[in-house]
Amino acid sequence: MDTDVLIVGAGPTGLTLANELLVAGVSAVLVDKLARRSELSKAGGVQSRTQEAFDQRGLLEPLLATGNYPAGTAHFAGIPLPLTRGRHRLPWRSIPQVAIEGFLERHLAARGSRVRRDHELTDLVQDADGVTATFADGARIRCRYLVAADGAHSTVRSLLRAEFPGRPGTATTVAADVRLGGDEVPTHTWSPDGHWVHVFPLGTDPQGRPLRRLAMGGPGRSLPRDVPVTADEIRDGLRSVLGSRVELLELRYARRITNAARQVARYRHGRVFLAGDAAHVHLPIGAQGMNTGIQDALNLGWKLGAAVRGWAPEGLLDTYHGERHPVGASVLRNVQAQSLLMDSEGTRTPDVAAARELFAGMTRLRDVQYHLDDMLSGMGIRYPMPGGEDEPLVGLPASDPGLGPVPLHELLRSGRGVLLDPADGFAKVADLWSDRVDRVSRVGGTRALLVRPDGYVCWAGGPDGPEAALGHWFGAPK
Ligand SMILES: Cc1cc2nc3c(=O)[nH]c(=O)nc-3n(C[C@H](O)[C@H](O)[C@H](O)COP(=O)(O)OP(=O)(O)OC[C@H]3O[C@@H](n4cnc5c(N)ncnc54)[C@H](O)[C@@H]3O)c2cc1C
Repeated sequence: MDTDVLIVGAGPTGLTLANELLVAGVSAVLVDKLARRSELSKAGGVQSRTQEAFDQRGLLEPLLATGNYPAGTAHFAGIPLPLTRGRHRLPWRSIPQVAIEGFLERHLAARGSRVRRDHELTDLVQDADGVTATFADGARIRCRYLVAADGAHSTVRSLLRAEFPGRPGTATTVAADVRLGGDEVPTHTWSPDGHWVHVFPLGTDPQGRPLRRLAMGGPGRSLPRDVPVTADEIRDGLRSVLGSRVELLELRYARRITNAARQVARYRHGRVFLAGDAAHVHLPIGAQGMNTGIQDALNLGWKLGAAVRGWAPEGLLDTYHGERHPVGASVLRNVQAQSLLMDSEGTRTPDVAAARELFAGMTRLRDVQYHLDDMLSGMGIRYPMPGGEDEPLVGLPASDPGLGPVPLHELLRSGRGVLLDPADGFAKVADLWSDRVDRVSRVGGTRALLVRPDGYVCWAGGPDGPEAALGHWFGAPK
């Protein structure tokens, strides 16, 4: 073997996975076909859960120190959710994808793990022991596991002939990074004739001037993807919705995006795993694509680490599909619902307007905002786990507020499991897994919990103790 794990694609998914494997102490090679990292602007919003994931590895503070990234609240279909403010330890934040990728790449390089660029995977063959990947220049890499983090047009997905059901794109909208002058405008505005614009903060330019992510669409605005977006087109779009209240000062970058929505049927194909956009594509509404990819990597990383290091219990690698496929499917559904409520295709049907009015009314209720925030913050993601039927915490992220004074995010930095043992009752049993799980005793204000390396609770007290859960998630005792 040349390496334990080969990661194809150094976007946010691949970079996060490389770091997770580094933390797990297994060798990984990360390749990308591009000679240089893309500076194109893509995602801009980072969910609470993604920030928790970075914080668990000690990466959040240094990432936030690289720029000015304002906190905000998520929205659903452009309907703001202000009642969710202050709900999570780490609020939704606007951090450009390029800043995240640059930070992760530098972080990895400082630890001797450099992205191998100019490496375009063109073929792969897997057998019982491993996978052989071939690159455009004829070079080969042999690995135990291969992860496709090669984006929406994944070569690996095509080579596997992986089933990729869903619906093709039927319309395009414009996404642009701009500087605007004039009045502050609401996040989402329509004109009566079905045109709409969507405006989000996107940090500042090097001169400290505010940048905005602008999305726009409406009748007659769905052009083929290869038609360049012009400044005049954007001016026209702004004018048709906002009149002269807002003016375009600078167009920095623009592209057309489609509303295709697809998800691979299986996230695992033998020794090959699909993650991020390689596994799911959808309209970038509500800042979910990059976040879902990063969280795929968080879920897969420690499991691959366990498999390579030889302690993975039976079936652990399969839980990657079992846990992450439903999350991806739910993201696709909520994006489709948002796209409909936003009338992204500019149908102007009164039915859509009526549904939106009704929905906007409901979202004034705190519980509705909380329900939507559970999805959009990533903090409500609950994995199916044994014991979850009886214990509401099992399967959920172990968020700090529920844990009193215990700084769990710091305890997880080792990339190992954590057993919180406030009554100091599990020393003997925990000792059997002490090479994989850290026990923390005599912590006040919390309950007994077993937390996986990705920060999810997998046991939360109970008369039988944590032994069965330790065996289930961390394999045979030493
Ligand atoms: C306009 C826009 C706005 C968006 N806004 C948001 C947002 O606010 N929030 C959010 O969460 N998401 C957003 N997204 C989505 C987000 O950008 C993607 O979900 C994210 O980039 C996916 O990350 P990834 O690492 O899975 O794939 P990518 O970022 O696409 O990375 C894939 C990498 O694989 C490499 N690669 C491809 N093929 C090969 C090969 N054969 N061999 C080697 N390397 C290969 C590519 O060069 C690339 O570097 C937005 C997207 C767009 C287009």
